[in-house]
Amino acid sequence: MHPAGESHKARKMKPIPLHGDSNASPLDTLLTEIRRCTLCADHLPLGPKPVLRASKTSRLLIVGQAPGTRVHESGIPWDDASGERLRTWLNIDKKTFYDETQIAIIPMGFCYPGRGKSGDLPPRKECAETWMPALQEQLSHIGTTLLVGQYAIQHYLGKRRQKTLTQTVQNWQDYAPEFFPLPHPSPRNNIWLKRNPWFDEEVIPALQTRIKKAL
Ligand code: SF4
Repeated sequence: MHPAGESHKARKMKPIPLHGDSNASPLDTLLTEIRRCTLCADHLPLGPKPVLRASKTSRLLIVGQAPGTRVHESGIPWDDASGERLRTWLNIDKKTFYDETQIAIIPMGFCYPGRGKSGDLPPRKECAETWMPALQEQLSHIGTTLLVGQYAIQHYLGKRRQKTLTQTVQNWQDYAPEFFPLPHPSPRNNIWLKRNPWFDEEVIPALQTRIKKAL
């Protein structure tokens, strides 16, 4: 994952002020800075490899959790079973999903955080704290933000969220049109989806209507 002889520590650097190619837009410059980030390298078992995409014209923002090993490998966000299900929920094809002029894809943690006892670890907190405000400042055309999973919901809704993720998703209309809270589409949530048939029956059609309006 790293150039020969270069340790995580040696490559570690703090985010630096925007600078560089004067022809690049502020967002492009910011994305370049993020892709060089090694802020929490010491905690990342596979090393830093931020996976995110955005364009100044993006109108829909998808905020997920953090890359898994497959996404870390490919560098393509939602390039896994969760992504397949998310695209089905949104009723959009891959071409549209990966068209960053329309859709920005920014997880709560940009790099694979490693594995814990019960699945992947939470996204690194440093990531959203360090980069999210500057990114949001640059994404001025976003009309709707999909909050996919508990970490995005917690970060964006804060005290506005309900006691449980299920209740927050059930009350999705309270957060419209700015936000749309969703459970994570991971196969690990198949039981949740089975237990909550209202999600497929009521929320998904509303979500698809919103996506059509947003794009
Ligand atoms: S997870 Fe975020 S803060 Fe940590 S190295 Fe990757 S981009 Fe930087």
